[in-house]
Amino acid sequence: MDKKRVYYFGGKAADGKADMKNLLGGKGANLAEMCLLGLPVPAGLTITTECCTEYYENDCQLPAALMPEVWAAMEKVEEVMGLQYDDADNPLLVSCRSGARSSMPGMMDTVLNVGLSSKTIPGLIRKTGNPRFVYDSYRRLIMMYADVVMEKAEGLAPAEGKGIRKLLDEMLDEFKHAKGYKSDTEITADELLELANAFKAKVKEALGTEFPDDSKAQLEGGIKAVFKSWNGKKAIAYRRIEGIPDEWGTAVNVQAMVFGNMGDGSATGVAFTRNPATGENQFYGEWLINAQGEDVVAGIRTPSPLNDATKNEQNKHLASMQELMPATYQELDDIRLILEKNYRDMLDIEFTIQEGKLFMLQCRVGKRTGVAALTMALDMLHEGLISDKEAVMRLSPDQLDELLHPILDVNDEKKRTVIAKGLPAGPGGAVGKIALTSEKAMEYGKLHIDSILVREETNPEDVEGMRAAAGILTARGGMTSHAALVARGWGKCCIVGCEAVHINLEANEITIAGKTYKEGDTISLNGTKGWVYDVAIKMVDATENPRFQEFMTIVDKYRTMGVRTNADTPEDALNAINFGAEGIGLFRIEHMFYGQNSEEPLAKLRNMILANSTEERVEALKELEPFVREIAKGTLEVLDGRPLTFRLIDPPLHEFVPQTEDKQRELAKEKGLPYEEIKRRIDALHEVNPMMGLRGVRLGVVNPEITEMQFRALFEATAELMKEGKNPVLEIMVPLIISVAELKHQKAIADRVQAEVEAKFGLKINYLYGTMIEIPRATLVADKVAEVAQFFSFGTNDLTQMTFGFSRDDVNVIVNSYIDEKIIPADPFNILDQEGVGELVQIGTERGRKTNPSLKVGVCGEHGGNPSSVAFFYKTGFNYVSCSPFRVPIARLAAAQAAIRG
Ligand code: PEP
Ligand code: MG
Repeated sequence: MDKKRVYYFGGKAADGKADMKNLLGGKGANLAEMCLLGLPVPAGLTITTECCTEYYENDCQLPAALMPEVWAAMEKVEEVMGLQYDDADNPLLVSCRSGARSSMPGMMDTVLNVGLSSKTIPGLIRKTGNPRFVYDSYRRLIMMYADVVMEKAEGLAPAEGKGIRKLLDEMLDEFKHAKGYKSDTEITADELLELANAFKAKVKEALGTEFPDDSKAQLEGGIKAVFKSWNGKKAIAYRRIEGIPDEWGTAVNVQAMVFGNMGDGSATGVAFTRNPATGENQFYGEWLINAQGEDVVAGIRTPSPLNDATKNEQNKHLASMQELMPATYQELDDIRLILEKNYRDMLDIEFTIQEGKLFMLQCRVGKRTGVAALTMALDMLHEGLISDKEAVMRLSPDQLDELLHPILDVNDEKKRTVIAKGLPAGPGGAVGKIALTSEKAMEYGKLHIDSILVREETNPEDVEGMRAAAGILTARGGMTSHAALVARGWGKCCIVGCEAVHINLEANEITIAGKTYKEGDTISLNGTKGWVYDVAIKMVDATENPRFQEFMTIVDKYRTMGVRTNADTPEDALNAINFGAEGIGLFRIEHMFYGQNSEEPLAKLRNMILANSTEERVEALKELEPFVREIAKGTLEVLDGRPLTFRLIDPPLHEFVPQTEDKQRELAKEKGLPYEEIKRRIDALHEVNPMMGLRGVRLGVVNPEITEMQFRALFEATAELMKEGKNPVLEIMVPLIISVAELKHQKAIADRVQAEVEAKFGLKINYLYGTMIEIPRATLVADKVAEVAQFFSFGTNDLTQMTFGFSRDDVNVIVNSYIDEKIIPADPFNILDQEGVGELVQIGTERGRKTNPSLKVGVCGEHGGNPSSVAFFYKTGFNYVSCSPFRVPIARLAAAQAAIRG
C-alpha cells in the first residue's frame, strides 16, 4: 500500500496522538490527542510533514494519491459534523492551517471559511438565518484566499504596500469611512455582499485571475498554499534564528469550521492553563464575543479578560467569560485541568464558542518567562504532577540566566523601537545616561546616577568606569573581548561589537543611524538580546526569587561534574560561593593591576617591566611580592577549604604600560626619568603579534625571576594561613604551554622556592601543579605533559583563537559575515566549536589520562558557562567547569541536565 499521508481526527477518535509531532506537526498531534481525551474538537484531518517534503521534491506538485485520500477522510469529517462539503443545503466549511514540528507562530499561512461559493452560500443563509454572518465570512475568505493562495503561493511579489491584502483592507476602510462606521460590526449584510463582490472584481483586476467559485478547487488551493508558505520569506528567516532545519516541512490541518462570529452567544479566545508571566496557578486568558480567532491575535479589538484572575487596569471594565457564560467557563476550566493532567505541563489553548457550544481548536505547551518556568516547575513538583528530574529539565539555562539579572520590562520594551543591535555580551538590562569616558561614568557613579559607558572598545584603563556604569556598550570587540569578559564576570549588562554606534569624543556625542545623542542623554540596553533603545525603559528585578535556592538544591542532586568560578578577588570569590561555586578554577593575577586600589601594585609592576637590568627587575619584584601574597592569602582564606587555582601571570607586558604620549610623559615624571628614555623602554616591548609573543609561560622562561616571585608569594600565603590554623587549598597552573619541557623548567623553580619556604616556616606545603591547555600543540603532546601536570585546565578562549587563527579581540566583523554566509554556525568564542576545537579537547583529555589516569581535567575559558558547551565537557569526562560568578548557577543547571540526559 502507498504510504499514509492523511490522518483523521474527530469524535473521540484519532489516527494520531501527541507523540507523533514529527509526522503530524505540533498542532495536528495535539488535536488528535485532545480527541482521544474526549474533548470537543471540530473534526478534521492532518496531512503529514513528509507529504510537504514530497511536494517540494516533486517540483511543488501535490502527490497524485493525496487528494483522493483527503476526500476519503473528509467523508468521516462530514459524518461526525453532520454536514457536507460543497453541499447546497447543509454545507461544511473548513480551515486550512499550517503546523510544523516546533511552533513557528504567525510565520506561515492560514485560510479560513474554505468552501463558501455561490452554490453553498444560499443554503448556509437558510440554515443559519444569518446572512450578515455568512457574507462576513465570505469577504474574509476572499481576503485571505487572494492573499495566501493567489498571491503569495503563486510567488507574486507586489511592491511594498501594493499587496492584495493591503488593497482589500484599504477598500474596507474606505467603505466604512464613507458610511461613517467606526467598527466592522456596523456593516450590514447587504453591504457585506456588495463589498465581497467589489473584492472579487479587485482580485481579478490586480492578480489577473478569478477568485475560484468552486469549493473543491478552494480546498486544494488552500493545502498547496500552506505547503508553499513553509518556504515563505518570514518562515525561512524564523527558521534561521531558531535553528529549525529546512527539511522538516509543515503539516496541513484541514478542520471543520466552527464560528465565534455567529452573534452574542458566540465567542473566541486564547488562554494559558497557568499565568505565563508569573507562573501562578491561575487560569489566564482573553476572549472576544462575536469574533473569529484572527481578531484576537490581530489586536483589532481590545480583548476582554477571561476571568477575575485576568483582570487588570486596562480591561477591568470589560465583562469576563466567567461572568457572562459561567457554565461554558466552568466547562473550559475543567478541560484546563484534564489537559494539564495529561500533558503534565502548562498549555496554551485556543477555543471557540459557537452559539453556546464550546470547541477546542488548539493546545500546545506554552511559552513562559524565566520566573514563570521556575514557579511552575516547583509547583508542579509539589502537586505531584512531575518528578524532581523533570522539574530540573523544565527550566532552560537561558531562563535561569534571565532570573539572575535585573531586566528590561518586556511589556514596556515591546512598545519601543530598537535603534541598534550588537553582540549580547553581558545579560540583563540597563538604563542610564550616556558616558563617553570612564571618568564621566565614575562622576555619575558618585552622584548615584546610572550611566551607560559607551566606548569604541574598552581596555584595562576603563575598568573603574565599567564598574561604575550600569551597562556597557562598545562599537567594536567580540564575545571574549575585554569588555565582554569583565562585564560577564560582574554580571553586568553589556553589548559589544555594536557597529552602528559612531563615537565623536570631540563633540561629546555619538550617532546611531544618522541620529545624534549627547553625553547625558538616556539610553537603554537589553544585554540578553544585544538591543539598544534611545528611551528609558522600565526595569524589573527578578533576582530575589525565594524559590531559586530550592530549585538549585534539586539541581545539585543530579549534578556529577564540579562547577568552579573565575574570580580574582576575595569579594568576587565570596559572591561566587553564594552562587554555589565549589572553588576557583581560574584566578588571573593580572587583574590586581586594574581597577580599585591598583595604583601601588601597578606602579611596582611597571618598575619591573621597565627595569633596565635583572638586578633592577629582581628589586622591583621584591616590592611587588607582598601585594601578590596578600591578595592570594585573602582569597584562599575566603575559600576556606575550597581550591584556588592560581594562574601564573599571562598577558603580554605592554598591556600594563601607557601607550599614549601624555600618559608616558606622566610616567616619566613619576619615575624621574626623561620622557625619551621611558618611550624607548616601552617601544622595546613592541611586538607585531603580541598574542603570539612574549606572554604566558614564555614570560617565566625568559625572566625566571617573575615565576620565582609568584611561587614565593603563594607558598608564603599558604604557610601563613596554615600557621593561623586555616585551611588553604592551593593549585597552581602554568599558562600557554607547548611542551612538557616548559612545565619542568618552571617546576624546578617551584621546587627550590617550596623548599626554602618550608624551611622558613617549618612545615610541609601541599599543592597541585598543573597547566592550562590553550595551544593546539599542547593537546597533541598531552600524554607527555601529563607526566608532570597533575591537572589540565583547558583555556578554550586561546585554544579557539589559535585553532581558528581568529584574533579574539577583533574578530566580530569576520564572525558575523561567516555566520551570515553559513560558513560557521555560531560565534566559536561563545559556543564551543565541538567539531574542531572540541576534537582537540577530546584528544588532549584522552592522551593526558593515558599516562596519568588520575589527571583532573577542567575548563576555564568562557565556554565553561555556556550550556551546550558544558554538556560537551560533561560527555568528554571533565571533572569540572569554571565560569564567571554569575554564570555558576547556569553551569550547575546545564551540568545537571547533561547528567540526566545521560
Ligand atoms: C583562555 O584562554 O581560555 C583563558 C581562560 O585564559 P585568558 O582568557 O586569560 O587568556
Ligand atoms: Mg588564555
